[in-house]
Amino acid sequence: MIKTTKLYIDGFWQDAISKEVRTIYNPFDNQPLATVAEGDREDAQNAIKSAKAAFESVAWRNLSATERGRMVYTLGDLIEKNKEELAALETLNTGKTLAESLWDMEDIAGIFRYYGGLADKNEGDTIASPNPDSKSLLVKEPIGVVGMICPWNYPLLQAAWKIAPALAAGCTMVIKPSEFTPLTTLLWASLAEEVGFPKGVINIVLGPGQTIGAELAENWEVDMVSFTGGVVTGKKIMQAAAGNVKKVALELGGKNPHILFEDGDWETAIDFILNGVFFHAGQICSAGTRVMVASSIHDEVVKHLEERISKIRLGNGMDKDTQMGPLISQAQLDKVTNHVQKAIKEGAELVVGGKKPTDPALINGFFYEPTLLTGCTADMAIVKEEVFGPVIHVEKFDTEDEAIKKANDTIYGLSAGFWTRDTQRIDRVSKALRFGTIWVNDFNVYFVQAPWGGYKQSGQGRELGHAGLEEFQEVKHIYQNFNPSPLNWFGN
Ligand code: NAD
Repeated sequence: MIKTTKLYIDGFWQDAISKEVRTIYNPFDNQPLATVAEGDREDAQNAIKSAKAAFESVAWRNLSATERGRMVYTLGDLIEKNKEELAALETLNTGKTLAESLWDMEDIAGIFRYYGGLADKNEGDTIASPNPDSKSLLVKEPIGVVGMICPWNYPLLQAAWKIAPALAAGCTMVIKPSEFTPLTTLLWASLAEEVGFPKGVINIVLGPGQTIGAELAENWEVDMVSFTGGVVTGKKIMQAAAGNVKKVALELGGKNPHILFEDGDWETAIDFILNGVFFHAGQICSAGTRVMVASSIHDEVVKHLEERISKIRLGNGMDKDTQMGPLISQAQLDKVTNHVQKAIKEGAELVVGGKKPTDPALINGFFYEPTLLTGCTADMAIVKEEVFGPVIHVEKFDTEDEAIKKANDTIYGLSAGFWTRDTQRIDRVSKALRFGTIWVNDFNVYFVQAPWGGYKQSGQGRELGHAGLEEFQEVKHIYQNFNPSPLNWFGN
């Protein structure tokens, strides 16, 4: 099943110059899954040179936007056609359930189709200029060579948010998937080969962030770096990108409040709280781990959450009955364990979960039990920091103002959700919350037409929607004077 394990540079699959390799593991049982080439800076530099040459080549620059769009759209069709294989590979590499991976692949096919369709519908405009004998054109042009650095939680989905609009805009690219989860990006590239992009338009370099990622961020031939990952890495990328003042797009972490007002349909909300945290074991940037419940309904809500959390079935993502898979690695398991232990020390009450399961079938994997903590307060570390694991921590509030103040008291600003039946409250609270996406009576809804991105330290720029295409475009103003005459400003 695993066919593509090399670097893809300048239209060829190749070993790393050093001939180094890396073993990729399945987080369900920590067993080897594949061996892939492990690149270094020189491989990344070659890939960047190839992307630069392709950007300047007639073969790519002279393609019409319609033709580029057709190629991007075709990728959507190929993803749909190969979705079972791609989904299985994503599940084996990330541990998420097969149903989630299939959902991802259908979403990804739609993303390629959306940007394929948009490619020739966003090329420019005319504007009124102050001189009636002139014409002013706004022309949108591709920004150039894009370095893409991706995380491990949604390997191909996060990559697609960058790749589809960048190619539709006419950019060329070098992508670095997470060193833990490169497999679906490699398989995607073999599909892109079938479409016939000119050589050098698409390049993939595998390896660590400190070398490959840093090279993409620093290199002067890269015009833009588009990054999804943690806030600490994002700050390093901004600094590295300063050398040639390249454009930086950042999709970073989140601490996303999920608020239940007393007048909301909290029985339905409970279902969304569970989905908001336990999908992919909480390894979602928009996970609604920070649950805030009105004091008057708190005890009832907690009782229902406890009941349903204790029934969640852990297991192999490839197994149809599994509802939640493992975390990605031992390091992530340790991080989640430490967060929970620290919260308990700081005064939180553990209601359910809070440890690695002892079931022998799960013992080799990086599993953590779905966990519920109550009695949490805004000063606790777990309420401030991103956990990235299957942990709900509940806070109480008494008034709307208190809920808004607490929810906004975070360095992050990715997404927030709340439940109420009061239409005036919907308006007030939606405006008061400082997050890039607000869900009202729902949670974790993404679709390609709607822009996605964060306020504050959750990032800068937007992915998806029209905005997601414009990120990869420069706007050029062309002013044409049809009747020039001397100004005689200097002298007679
Ligand atoms: P990470 O920051 O550890 O790694 C992300 C990528 O950056 C990896 O490919 C890694 O190799 C690379 N990298 C590491 N150090 C680097 C450096 N010095 N220079 C350049 N690249 C470097 O993040 P992760 O653990 O893979 O992913 C989890 C994080 O991603 C979470 O914080 C999550 O919230 C965030 N995320 C955000 C979104 C969003 O849409 N906002 C989506 C998914 C994930």
